[in-house]
Amino acid sequence: MPPQGGRGREPASAESILRRQAQRESAARTYARSLPIVPVRARGLTIEGADGRRYLDCLSGAGTLALGHNHPVVLEAVRKVLDSGAPLHVLDLATPVKDAFTTELFANLPPALAADARVQFCGPAGTDAVEAALTLVRAATGRDGLLAFTGAYHGMTSGALAASGGATDVRVTRLPYPQDRHCPFGVGGEEGARLAAAWTENLLDDPKGGVAPPAGMILEPVQGEGGVIPAPDAWLRRMREITTRRGIPLIADEVQTGVGRTGAFWGVDHAGVVPDVMVLSKAIGGSLPLAVIVYRAELDLWAPGAHAGTFRGNQLAMAAGTATLAYVRRNGLAERAATLGARMLTALRGLAADQPCVGEVRGRGLMIGLELIDPDTGAAAPGLAAAVRRECLDRGLIVELGGRHAAVLRLLPPLTITDEQAAAVLDRLADAVPAAVRRPH
Ligand code: PMP
Repeated sequence: MPPQGGRGREPASAESILRRQAQRESAARTYARSLPIVPVRARGLTIEGADGRRYLDCLSGAGTLALGHNHPVVLEAVRKVLDSGAPLHVLDLATPVKDAFTTELFANLPPALAADARVQFCGPAGTDAVEAALTLVRAATGRDGLLAFTGAYHGMTSGALAASGGATDVRVTRLPYPQDRHCPFGVGGEEGARLAAAWTENLLDDPKGGVAPPAGMILEPVQGEGGVIPAPDAWLRRMREITTRRGIPLIADEVQTGVGRTGAFWGVDHAGVVPDVMVLSKAIGGSLPLAVIVYRAELDLWAPGAHAGTFRGNQLAMAAGTATLAYVRRNGLAERAATLGARMLTALRGLAADQPCVGEVRGRGLMIGLELIDPDTGAAAPGLAAAVRRECLDRGLIVELGGRHAAVLRLLPPLTITDEQAAAVLDRLADAVPAAVRRPH
């Protein structure tokens, strides 16, 4: 059905809906500003706007839609619950739908964790699960402090925000996340990562370092919002060693990297690292809101109600999530993300070679970023990045920005994207970049 206007019977036009949105919605709205479209239908990679235009969606609900929009297995799973007469709201009570979700989730966890794991169903956002993870490790260790990294993003509630890179919080010790282009040690590569790990170790062992034994260390295997920065495997293994040796629980925030996105089922799998706690949301709900933490049973020392919430039993999200996890596993979509992602990175590096404003192309699997720079100074170019995003939208391609200066163009296509669709995405991007450079921005 076409969208209806506020009062009249006529279908509302895209412009009138956007106008009312601008009048009525908060100044804090985000994606709605950079993507002034009104989605009315969607399937897979494609969104259709109320104006009849079609877009290739490489934002995918900020990395949520592992199977794209309205995948048939997701729709079928949701319909099955709706048609069954099962209650849709059950707090955190046991149900067959939840039981099936937990079974499928455990079947996909790193085996060493699954062998003796517990799951806590949280409020439905990634940030709720981050808070739960922090509460858990604080309860288990009796300590307060947290180790977190430069450039991190963990969410918008107070604990998650404090752990994120932009924040200052007395309880959080900020450590260097390894990166090539903006390496704090000026060397990048393996040596930069080695120095970052050495810094961490030295700080923790220095009796005058000013860091009390912390409750945990939280990290993203690939920083997403921070500008698509994959952690080197060797560095991640070092973080595991450093934390294990000092009895510090390691929390992997896999909200964005989980469920095949990076070319392995979990981001930590590349390094063969098994964290003590995994924070999961986005794709695990198969496009509907769901968040959990899974953790070693030994940490399960918190009291009943230590992390509660009304909305921890979304049956539709659990059914959609079960279907998504099973589909990714059965169809080898993590492997598919690895091969297609590698091909897209190669193609984009070819584009970067022709376009001096593309400073770096980074990524892992289908989590890809292009850093836009001023070719004269090498500085981040947020204005140009925003102009590229606009040119992309004009060409029917939805992309978002990330990174410290909002100068990294991010691609997060569904894992189901076909070769032809990937080629269309790359074509549109290859047109959009020089078009943005030509226009004043
Ligand atoms: N952690 C990571 C790594 C994320 O990327 C995000 C969201 N982009 C969050 C946590 C927070 O998730 P949510 O927006 O659902 O609260």
